[in-house]
Amino acid sequence: MKSRIKIIAGPCSAESREQVLETAKALAKTGIYAFRAGLWKPRTRPGMFEGVGSKGLQWLSDVKKETGLKVCCEVATPEHLHQALEAGVDILWIGARTTADPFAVQALADAVKNLDKTPEALLIKNPVNPDVELWAGALERFLNAGIRQIILVHRGFSSYGNQIYRNIPLWHIPIEMKRRFPDIQMLCDPSHMGGKPQLIAPISQQALDLMYDGLMIECHINPDQALSDKAQQITPIQLEKILSHLKVRENSQNQQSLESFRSQIDSLDESLLQIISKRMDVSRQIGDFKQRNNMPVLQSKRYSEIVENRSDLAESLGLDRDFAKSLMEIIHKESVKVQLKQRNEDSNPK
Ligand code: PEP
Ligand code: MN
Repeated sequence: MKSRIKIIAGPCSAESREQVLETAKALAKTGIYAFRAGLWKPRTRPGMFEGVGSKGLQWLSDVKKETGLKVCCEVATPEHLHQALEAGVDILWIGARTTADPFAVQALADAVKNLDKTPEALLIKNPVNPDVELWAGALERFLNAGIRQIILVHRGFSSYGNQIYRNIPLWHIPIEMKRRFPDIQMLCDPSHMGGKPQLIAPISQQALDLMYDGLMIECHINPDQALSDKAQQITPIQLEKILSHLKVRENSQNQQSLESFRSQIDSLDESLLQIISKRMDVSRQIGDFKQRNNMPVLQSKRYSEIVENRSDLAESLGLDRDFAKSLMEIIHKESVKVQLKQRNEDSNPK
């Protein structure tokens, strides 16, 4: 792995001194940039493992001593932040749930403002919801507090009923952040995005093709026994194998820009198709509803409204009106086809 790429790896949660030290020692051989472990875990549902808390700070300090690795953990309150910096934690990260809460972010930015000792880097994960302004807002709050060593982490966005990813990438959102803040580094967290070991390599490669600056990957010495995010953690050996196969683009400036543009197009096309597929799902539900209520598939008034209204919207977005019209017609035609097929299958069951 080329040195331009920062790899942060370690367990979702610190669970015991042995688990932390063993994982860190195995990872140190891989030449990672920093070791991660969550101490205070924001769990979506009560009753899940909420982390060992400040007890784990000593384990992180032991990792530093015994392996020489930089260490990092999540902070969600000013108290976490003070305790972590006091214990010598080098890098802090703001979790996706915290980024979505401007009060929490402001409290953290205020806490960091007057410190003598600032973290070596502050990582800001994207908010759980796909809101570029919230992510930008969190970044600006820390910039206003005088913090310069900020790195963004794209970990995907919550969505309902998505089957491929645990958190859908929506690549256009980090691309927009990169456009607005070109000098800020961007990492990808394929573990929380994919939610499964087999997606870590392809997502990581996609991120590197988009010229991301690094990866944050969850690694556990014994993933089957993990107390949180068990389904997505990999062993240090698996990590080493994945890293050895990743291709880092280091071409000439021109080729690099071209590849980066192409990867942006690939990723945007992926988002586009995912959105169309979601639209088709809704269209199927409408089909179902119309059938149950004995309504016709095609409702021409609604159709004309869609085409007109979307053409106006497209125009306001700088797109050609006729192009938008044709696009909506193709999509609508497919929706009608899907609904007719569905009706046909329901009235002629096999
Ligand atoms: C984590 O990194 O373990 C974590 C809780 O991440 P996120 O905030 O991205 O859900
Ligand atoms: Mn996790």
